[in-house]
Amino acid sequence: MEARLGVAVPVLDHGLVRVIDYMGDDASIAQAARVSYGGGSRPTRSDRDLIRYLMRHRHTSPFEMCEIKLHVKLPIFVARQWIRHRTASVNEVSGRYSVLDAEVYIPRAEDLAEQSTSNRQGGGAALAPGLASEVLDVLRLDASRAQGTYGRLIDEGVSRELARIGLGLNTYTQWVWKVDLHNLLHFLALRMDRHAQREIRVYADAIAEAVREWVPMTWEAFEDYRLGAVTLSRQEVEVVRRRLRGEMVLWADSGLGLREWDELHEALPEVDWDVALGGAP
Ligand SMILES: Cc1cc2nc3c(=O)[nH]c(=O)nc-3n(C[C@H](O)[C@H](O)[C@H](O)COP(=O)(O)OP(=O)(O)OC[C@H]3O[C@@H](n4cnc5c(N)ncnc54)[C@H](O)[C@@H]3O)c2cc1C
Repeated sequence: MEARLGVAVPVLDHGLVRVIDYMGDDASIAQAARVSYGGGSRPTRSDRDLIRYLMRHRHTSPFEMCEIKLHVKLPIFVARQWIRHRTASVNEVSGRYSVLDAEVYIPRAEDLAEQSTSNRQGGGAALAPGLASEVLDVLRLDASRAQGTYGRLIDEGVSRELARIGLGLNTYTQWVWKVDLHNLLHFLALRMDRHAQREIRVYADAIAEAVREWVPMTWEAFEDYRLGAVTLSRQEVEVVRRRLRGEMVLWADSGLGLREWDELHEALPEVDWDVALGGAP
């Protein structure tokens, strides 16, 4: 982690993540847990076992003993999603105080997708190459017009706070983001997930690399008990139990919504579901 300090990791076309500072490590988490358990913790238990126990049982406060401070450069539409994570401290560049670089994010052609028909919040199939290239032309033209207007208004002496209002959501902003490890892992679990938009996922992936090096035992436990874990509802457990008993389970009497039913099949593809498929509409 020391070697990472101050090193900018490029993300998207003009973005970056840079570790500015950090506090604590796996040992600090184990130490805090041992203090809280007092004489009650087994002295022979290794830091790794203790951290795995904490993660498994969601004893979260020891993970708050570690903190990280990042410098992030990101498009405004990504920042809008990111800022919803309220349990962090943020200091953002001021477009009222400074003249912005007004750099813009333009996706790669291969990342342009059609609107998904199954997921209203996501993209589906890749755009055909011809259409993708037209879309990129439009995005570039719009960005250069908006940047041109911004520059002209600044040159004409319009206040910076108003000159910026025509800039697009793909304009880059920058902030310093400080968060404790517990809340960072929550952020990563949500934003590394395939349901998150790619443009925020790539930032989460870049941060995850740093976390993996910073607190390797915690990261291992996080992968095992959070990222790689499957949570089943009471009804889903019942469906799995019935299948394991060899019973035929129809969707109609499973107690699950159709989406939950599909997600259960996706989560446990190894289960022999075939016999159970008959009831789905
Ligand atoms: C794939 C995806 C799609 C999303 N779509 C939408 C959307 O369409 N519209 C939308 O508005 N948001 C959307 N969000 C944002 C989402 O609802 C959360 O706001 C965001 O993920 C931050 O999560 P959080 O509140 O748990 O995190 P944090 O703000 O970091 O909070 C962490 C935890 O602290 C507690 N907490 C924090 N503040 C409060 C509070 N004021 N009151 C009570 N408890 C609190 C909660 O337990 C919370 O889980 C989406 C998020 C994802 C990942």
